[in-house]
Amino acid sequence: MEPVIDKSLLRELPKIDEVMKHHKITQLLEIHPRSVVVDGVRGAVDFMRKAILNGYFTGDPEKLYDMVIEKSLVLVESETRPNLRRVINATGVVLHTNLGRALLSRSARHAVDAVASAYCNLEINLETGKRGSRYEPVEDLLIRLTGAEAALVVNNNASAVLLALGTLARGKEVIVSRGQLVEIGGSFRIPEVMEQSGATLVEVGATNKTHPRDYRNGITENTALLLHVHTSNYRIMGFTRETSVAELVEIGRESGIPVMSDLGSGFLVDLAQYGLPVEPSVQETVAAGADVVTFSGDKLLGGPQAGIIVGKRQYIEKMKQNPLTRAVRINKFTVAALEATLREYLDKDHVLKKIPTLRMLTESTDTILKRAEELAVKLKSRLTAGAELRIVQGFSQVGGGSMPTAELPTYLLSCVPDNMSVDELAVQLRKAEPAVVARVQDGRYQVDLRTVQPDEVDLLAKVMAGVLNSGGVSR
Ligand SMILES: *Cc1c(COP(=O)(O)O)cnc(C)c1O
Repeated sequence: MEPVIDKSLLRELPKIDEVMKHHKITQLLEIHPRSVVVDGVRGAVDFMRKAILNGYFTGDPEKLYDMVIEKSLVLVESETRPNLRRVINATGVVLHTNLGRALLSRSARHAVDAVASAYCNLEINLETGKRGSRYEPVEDLLIRLTGAEAALVVNNNASAVLLALGTLARGKEVIVSRGQLVEIGGSFRIPEVMEQSGATLVEVGATNKTHPRDYRNGITENTALLLHVHTSNYRIMGFTRETSVAELVEIGRESGIPVMSDLGSGFLVDLAQYGLPVEPSVQETVAAGADVVTFSGDKLLGGPQAGIIVGKRQYIEKMKQNPLTRAVRINKFTVAALEATLREYLDKDHVLKKIPTLRMLTESTDTILKRAEELAVKLKSRLTAGAELRIVQGFSQVGGGSMPTAELPTYLLSCVPDNMSVDELAVQLRKAEPAVVARVQDGRYQVDLRTVQPDEVDLLAKVMAGVLNSGGVSR
């Protein structure tokens, strides 16, 4: 049936100037530029004009004005919405690289805020008034916490590895086990980083077994470095033999060749008592005699994105002289956040509570269950649509290419809506404000409460109820 087009309605469309005076629109003018608001209102009037001309609006002319106001609000909101937005992480993956990895501790957030809004002594020594180093605020802390002689921090661990290889082994050979030719997400592969650094990769051993003699046999007069790469994101199991950092150090000493260990997600506190796998800590690796150790700032350490290099002074000094260091240097926000994060580690009793990554990894299932129950209650109290809600057990992951075999028991709020598909629910929640990212598993929408922050439960209930109640009809 052809829609009835009533062109006389066009005369009832409000004028832009008139709409601009509405109190809801003048409120927008307090936060957004006038030009953006005018564009929104114009877009809304155009939208309604087309609706009339296409016969989609045949209703009460009185309603036109209100509809233009509502549409204006939606258009201005979508136009001014930041592209980088807040997400509630309900995936249960603690270090989710795609969701920004580690959350900062309260003191780290304050530190970033302080240097964002005021000048700071980034490169000035306030005692002498002379030029200082941006690494100073974190150097002593890193030395104290890891037991190393010296430290340097760059943009991320990929650049730390590149800088270390380029400084210590450019034009020379680096020996690596065939079982450790790691690829980290985002095209970081040891063989390719090696090539980029100007060093030559010498692979030794087999995928499952590399013996100390394999390294010894690989050494030539061109060997500059023995590299150990922690297979942080995969495991080789069964009939295996890895040559440890301590064994490499012994081989290195015999022939005067330094040993480097890329730990990936280096950590400073032992989490084995919380059911997490036993992995070498930074301190242990330094104590084993590694000359250079590299690790990420935003993996298990729980700080800002950074590549931390600790080790023997002579090698760290050489790296500082490399022009590449300037190209991969950290900014003041990283220095501020990293210093505050490292300071948390000085207080061994409270560090697990203060650093969100560590808190999430060590949280008891009882606490997670309580949060799941709280969410269920809050969601039900807001729900007008039908949905099947259940609290079920499941597993969370460490993520960020760390501890791939660890399965952390958790509780999930599992949901199947009556009025839309589970996939549609997932889409709508990703588009919500704030966005919600969870798992769709076994035909159910699964919210893992481990990675939902304690102060996000209310907000999550509100957002979920909003989408469920709308029946999947996007606004
Ligand atoms: C994660 C990882 C890297 C890269 O670290 P980024 O901080 O993400 O650049 C390098 N090596 C290993 C072993 C890793 O696990």
